[in-house]
Amino acid sequence: MRIKIGIVWFRHDLRLRDNQALTDAAEQCDVVLPVYVFDERLYKEQTPNGFRQIGVYRAQLILDSVLNLKKSLQEKNIDLIVRIGKAEEIIYEIADQVKSSWVFCNRERAPEEEFIQDKLENRLWQIGQELRFSRGKMLYHTGDLPFPVRHTPDTYAAFYREVGKIVPVRKPLPIPDKMLPYMGSVESESIPTLIDLGFKSNEIPGEGFRFKGGESEGLKKLDEFIKNNFKVSSIKTNRRNKDEVLITHLSPYINAGVLSPKTLYESINQFMGNKFHSNRASCIIHGLMRRDFLKLLEKKYKTKIFDKAGIKGNEQYDLKHEMDKFWLWANAKTGIPIVDAFMRELNNTGFISYEGRRILSQFLIEELQVNWQLGAEYFQSKLVDYNPCSNWGNWNIMAGVAYDTKEDRYCSIITKARKLDPHGDFVRKWIPELAGLNDNIIHEPDKANSEDLKNSNIELGKDYPLPVVDTEKWV
Ligand SMILES: Cc1cc2nc3c(=O)[nH]c(=O)nc-3n(C[C@H](O)[C@H](O)[C@H](O)COP(=O)(O)OP(=O)(O)OC[C@H]3O[C@@H](n4cnc5c(N)ncnc54)[C@H](O)[C@@H]3O)c2cc1C
Repeated sequence: MRIKIGIVWFRHDLRLRDNQALTDAAEQCDVVLPVYVFDERLYKEQTPNGFRQIGVYRAQLILDSVLNLKKSLQEKNIDLIVRIGKAEEIIYEIADQVKSSWVFCNRERAPEEEFIQDKLENRLWQIGQELRFSRGKMLYHTGDLPFPVRHTPDTYAAFYREVGKIVPVRKPLPIPDKMLPYMGSVESESIPTLIDLGFKSNEIPGEGFRFKGGESEGLKKLDEFIKNNFKVSSIKTNRRNKDEVLITHLSPYINAGVLSPKTLYESINQFMGNKFHSNRASCIIHGLMRRDFLKLLEKKYKTKIFDKAGIKGNEQYDLKHEMDKFWLWANAKTGIPIVDAFMRELNNTGFISYEGRRILSQFLIEELQVNWQLGAEYFQSKLVDYNPCSNWGNWNIMAGVAYDTKEDRYCSIITKARKLDPHGDFVRKWIPELAGLNDNIIHEPDKANSEDLKNSNIELGKDYPLPVVDTEKWV
């Protein structure tokens, strides 16, 4: 009898735990053959406005994660085949060579990935093979939702009413216990370096880089987060910094797929019944639900989330494609400390909090009146946790071209800055030029008197830029 060979095509699901495609392959086939392809197009080709498709922080996270996956599989005597090239050609070649029964993958929703999936599916049909899609990328299983994807509600509030507290989240899957390796020989390349992928040596993140990739690292980070934020009795000391307390920093792991949304949900959900913790636990769960909501919206509206007029098709919308203003923003030279500080954090680490993303996008759109698509592309190239639906969906919301409205659209940036960073510690960290200014003036150096500036050794316009927008309206 012919043995059934299941190729598992890993993409944004670089994990063994709760991996539906891997589980399906292990259950339906006699042997598994896992493959990862570094898609050369994503590293060589640029976005329409000339940014990298995958920035260096995300690339590093992916490299770490592939290496970790290879090690974890090797511990089970299975090798991960790694190749560089065009995924649909390489997977097809391997399927043809080993005469596999099926190729398994977790279905991707974004247009470019769907395009590659469709191409592969067509080619496999020609040799009598099939691409089997699993649904394992979201918190909810789409089959459990009370509506078909094309009827997804247009606002998060409506989505939550129909889904939250009603639709159960399925349990994460364990690592398949029975997985046998394919014993034939299939060529594998070594895992490339960042230089092989086209990055320059001066772009490579230093040792202190915050987001090391891999399933083991993701699970470790999750454990640490739970221990430090939900289990310690000294929780009140953590509460001093509101921003630090509310965020998990786990989105890079969720989006590389080393940690599944269901795994995070299961770890957090146990604290929902606890009065002291439930607020924080529910913020995180809302985050995961928002992620699903934006994935479904993208599926419903397809490429519209990438259009300037957005999913709403707002034809009146008229923001300018002004590159000079855009580069002031991207190079952190706006003269508004909180904006420049968040931008320096993004440029130097690939990560900023939700509030940071809101402040940067609000400033580009409302203050500089620059086309929001430039900002979304820039975030795409910089964010370590980039995913198309979360990034472009949130930019649609910020630009007012989605059906979701923004609650605090007209709040002054300075008011927000004082709320988020009352003592100026965050600004001092990222803009040391301003470190000598007092807490009460650090967010508005242009309002400092000449004596304060002199005592702090700052010459505005030389050491730090003058504001590029009229700040009088915020007084
Ligand atoms: C302009 C803009 C662009 C954004 N681009 C991205 C992006 O490319 N990738 C991305 O994952 N998030 C994006 N977000 C959403 C959000 O800022 C990040 O998910 C969050 O800051 C990640 O931090 P955390 O892991 O500590 O999240 P937590 O607050 O701990 O939330 C838990 C998880 O829920 C998800 N999540 C939380 N908030 C959101 C949200 N508003 N939308 C979608 N998912 C959410 C994330 O996966 C996150 O890991 C964007 C937001 C804005 C305003």
